Amino acid sequence: MSHSSSFSQAVLSWFDDHGRHDLPWQKNKTPYRVWVSEIMLQQTQVVTVIPYYERFMASFPTVEDLARASIDEVLHHWTGLGYYARARNLHKCAQTVMDNYNGQFPKTVAELETLSGIGRSTAGAIASISMGQHAAILDGNVKRVLSRFHAVEGWPGNKKVADAMWEIAERYTPAQRTGDYTQAMMDLGATLCTRSKPACQICPLSAQCEAYAQDRVKEFPNSKPKKEKPIRSVRLLMLQHDDDVLLQQQPDSGIWGGLWIFPQQPVAEDVFEHPLLLNEKVSAVEAKDVFRHTFSHYHLDIHPVRIQLKSKLDQVTEPSMLWYNLSNPASVGLAAPVKKLLESL
Ligand code: SF4
Repeated sequence: MSHSSSFSQAVLSWFDDHGRHDLPWQKNKTPYRVWVSEIMLQQTQVVTVIPYYERFMASFPTVEDLARASIDEVLHHWTGLGYYARARNLHKCAQTVMDNYNGQFPKTVAELETLSGIGRSTAGAIASISMGQHAAILDGNVKRVLSRFHAVEGWPGNKKVADAMWEIAERYTPAQRTGDYTQAMMDLGATLCTRSKPACQICPLSAQCEAYAQDRVKEFPNSKPKKEKPIRSVRLLMLQHDDDVLLQQQPDSGIWGGLWIFPQQPVAEDVFEHPLLLNEKVSAVEAKDVFRHTFSHYHLDIHPVRIQLKSKLDQVTEPSMLWYNLSNPASVGLAAPVKKLLESL
């Protein structure tokens, strides 16, 4: 038996005995259902994804339902999952599948990869799990397993290292039971070969694992050469009249694209310099605790100020503004810190 087939067989028999087989997206494995699960699972753990996935499938059972939904509805279902570009790409991709592919996902990895938000690994997962094709994946979990197994030096974000890892991933991917192998590798990475507590003693790959043999497991995958994240700050104005709080929709691009947040202001300005605020409308101003929200490229220090209004503002007529009612909240996508602040009101 070749080295690569003994690798995949060890992974598959571990999966048969110990892997997870009852996750919601493992039932009725259509390209649509597998695709949504793969997008949700990027950067997010299985336990967190399950309730989101179930609500999403209940509201949008088919790619057609998703394509027809408004972006606000889609973002609303994504509130709390983070990385909202995923939700916008999902919506866009559903529309492309309806418009250009007659509602059927294309059948090749190359075509799948042309769709919004689908990279090579996600395309491989959809093709192998839902279509039984011989296609490899290299998501975060698989990268961790393979980089440890072969003690691959270098940061996988680097093109050369990534190419070498794809070569390994393709070599190990078996032609039979490819979909099961794909799920098995993701599962092994998520449950055994974890980032901080790898369970090497019970891992089916430990006998050949180079990082384990060298006692260097936690060094792999090598991390990105460090750069300090800059710190930015913003003031959020929580303008409230009775049960209504003013929210504004962000433009589609940029952070929180398409989501609803409080009016913003540079912290160096005085609160009353904000164009929406006139002194005589305000009955109380209260600064709340500053807290930090971290994005992939920077930290944002958020300075919330709660402002009670004597009456509603006359200027709120644009469609990008909304009086959000606390007892009867509208179904709109909220940025995570905004959700947290609304809950505090
Ligand atoms: S032996 Fe340890 S490091 Fe190697 S693949 Fe298994 S869990 Fe990961």
